[in-house]
Amino acid sequence: MTYQETIWDDSPSLKSYTLSNFRTLPQIQKLSEETQFEMEVVGNVLPFKANNYVVEQLIDWNNIPNDPIFVLTFPQKGMLKPEHYEKMATALKNNLDKKEITNIANEIRLQLNPHPAGQMELNVPTLKDGTKLYGMQHKYKETCLFFPSQSQTCHAYCSFCFRWPQFVGMDEMKFAMQEGEQLVQYVREHPEISDVLFTGGDPMIMKAKIFSKYVDALIDAKLPNLKTIRIGTKALAYWPYKFLTDSDSQEMLDVFKKIIDNGLHLAFMAHFNHLNELSTDAVKNAIKAVRNTGAQIRTQSPLLAHINDDAEMWAKMWTKQVQLGCIPYYMFVVRDTGAQHYFGIPLVKAYQIFKKAYSSVSGLARTVRGPSMSATPGKVHVIGTANLNDQKVIVLRFLQGRNPDWVQVPFFAKYDENAIWLDDLKPALTDKFFFDEEMKNFKTTHPVEDYPES
Ligand code: SF4
Repeated sequence: MTYQETIWDDSPSLKSYTLSNFRTLPQIQKLSEETQFEMEVVGNVLPFKANNYVVEQLIDWNNIPNDPIFVLTFPQKGMLKPEHYEKMATALKNNLDKKEITNIANEIRLQLNPHPAGQMELNVPTLKDGTKLYGMQHKYKETCLFFPSQSQTCHAYCSFCFRWPQFVGMDEMKFAMQEGEQLVQYVREHPEISDVLFTGGDPMIMKAKIFSKYVDALIDAKLPNLKTIRIGTKALAYWPYKFLTDSDSQEMLDVFKKIIDNGLHLAFMAHFNHLNELSTDAVKNAIKAVRNTGAQIRTQSPLLAHINDDAEMWAKMWTKQVQLGCIPYYMFVVRDTGAQHYFGIPLVKAYQIFKKAYSSVSGLARTVRGPSMSATPGKVHVIGTANLNDQKVIVLRFLQGRNPDWVQVPFFAKYDENAIWLDDLKPALTDKFFFDEEMKNFKTTHPVEDYPES
């Protein structure tokens, strides 16, 4: 593919840039050969994908290498640990063949905890007839996640994304399901489910015709327990034209309207990592178009070093979201997978950033919750720090738990300024966390994952 600047006034078409063609971008050619090689080394292990909207409208090329959207979408040297970087760099310098490079890449990838939070072992649901539904996950009682096979990719990739194994062809680690009927059957068999979350990849990569098939199956089944359809998506940030000028944009908006006209709530879980993603006319118009269907847009993002570890930016982003009619929903902690060493923020610091941002926005933006970890036992909220019995502690609670009884019960961990994930924390005042024993006994039958990245 050769580079061609998009005509943004017209109906733009999506052009993707990946490892195979990123060097054709004039903006990339202006970077030093050393930087381009570093990107290539990292890009051979961790997947990356940008597009013409991200490149031309979101990234400030005068602010390289610090531009947050550049770091969000293009590989950076620090995303690989030095030993992994050296291994891949040596392989490329020695011109090893494609197969050998792939083997080295897979070897490194397997050391990056490709499936955190027990997704492969604990969250896969089963129909009453014994059929395993690998394209679904059910961890929390009320919500089941559905991974349509046609939504296993995204308009661009986030460099921190925990779904990275799906994008690099590690097929056995891919969740995907083709059959809407099995989804319907599962929701019917589980009257406790009120929400179905379409996820992926990004479900808004699907054509309206395909998405509407799944939606029609749910609507036609008239499931009394189903109240809400959620769509986890980053399309507003990465390709707003999906809802503006793409050939089936109106058809997609009509599907949204249909969901609402049939008495269901449509919750659009929009993923925005930075204020800059809310700056273009395209995104503002797309938000308007989605909201005009009656859908509610809730926003979420992880807190990420090198991209958005700045309280003032979060405060401005939440305020902007409210101004545009969106509801700030979650600040997440980066998961224990992939380049966590690069993006991770210690929990105590994450709490301080959240507190500073939260205390400087109006009440309407304080719908947001965080920092929250989607860990194996559940969604754990870092509430703050305190002194108990002369001991400094971190205070936590479950927002969601594998056992619903765990929810809202405060628990305490020893104060640790370096801990970046639940596993790093040690119980304070007791030998074990109150859920440790029960967690050990959880088996496959326990229901899913609500980490609402797209
Ligand atoms: S966070 Fe969402 S949009 Fe980003 S790469 Fe992951 S699945 Fe795709």
